[in-house]
Amino acid sequence: MDFHFPKAELHCHLDGCFRLTTIIEIAKERNIQLPTYDPVQLAKFCALERCDNLIHFLSGFAIFEPVISGDIKAIKRITYEAIEDKAANGIAYLELRVSPHFLANCDVEPMLYAKTKGNVRPRDVIEAVCSTTSEASVKFGIEVRIILCTISLLPEWSMEVAKMCKEYSSMGVVGIDIAGEGTEPGNLVQQRHIDAYQFCRDHNIHRTAHAGENGSAEEVEQAMQILNAQRIGHGYHVVDSESVYNEAKARDVHFEVCPRSSYLTASVDPDLTKHPAIRFLKDKVNFSLSTDDPAIQQTTIYDDYNIAQKYFGFSIEDIKLLNILALKSAFVEESVKNELIRKFETEYAKIT
Ligand SMILES: [Zn+2]
Repeated sequence: MDFHFPKAELHCHLDGCFRLTTIIEIAKERNIQLPTYDPVQLAKFCALERCDNLIHFLSGFAIFEPVISGDIKAIKRITYEAIEDKAANGIAYLELRVSPHFLANCDVEPMLYAKTKGNVRPRDVIEAVCSTTSEASVKFGIEVRIILCTISLLPEWSMEVAKMCKEYSSMGVVGIDIAGEGTEPGNLVQQRHIDAYQFCRDHNIHRTAHAGENGSAEEVEQAMQILNAQRIGHGYHVVDSESVYNEAKARDVHFEVCPRSSYLTASVDPDLTKHPAIRFLKDKVNFSLSTDDPAIQQTTIYDDYNIAQKYFGFSIEDIKLLNILALKSAFVEESVKNELIRKFETEYAKIT
């Protein structure tokens, strides 16, 4: 069975979702140094093997991100191709997340990835991503919504991100996320993050947060209780605390599980038959499967489903169920959500 059915993916980073051939073309056009201009060789700079930790995994971004940062044409092309590639993998509903600050080279401090200052502000990044998304989603027949990321160790960006979530809600921005490499529980609950999440809550903007990936169960608890996150990015370490685990179940918090990513970032036991997702399914925890950073990992959703089948022991019916759970916890408008659920269930009923 090749998973030929409509899929929903909630956790995918736009800047971790590119074609290496495109990166090479853009780097040549923009005169940006890459370690090699051969796609096969360049793939070796991706996270193909298990890393020491999340920070090691994220170091791959330092090679690829400067190629697209500060260039609207490049940002549009990456967005367009990401949606085309997702549609080709049978993704019918996608939430793409992006840090507008990482891809900007103006009005951004610190400027982490862009090589030179220019005139691309964080809001220009969002407008480029949103306008390309509406064009590509129609062309490829896929519903796409955008989540804006703030960064755990850069709380000075958070309120601006929250306000832009509100400002661009009519252009397909549906939620806020907090991402990055901070793995201490205190990173998530810095006051400026709390204020930004409160702003989102007050304005009916959906909230997810990376927590309990490399970090602890306490981080998941803080994301739920203090940030009022409706979904948790990863959250594997929630199983380390029975009380936090039970609270997550009681709140019906949705976990965005990324099987291959969780292995590569060394966030879970290398023996994938011990993965927390196995307990999630058994205990009817609300969760779904996503890729995370398919280009950095050189994978597609099929790799994640294969892991779920081979190591987690999930059946095709289980994977279909997780797709329905993804839709139920999606940040999309209710009318579109209900239509998608109906469509998925009809298609699933045809393949038994
Ligand atoms: Zn992520």
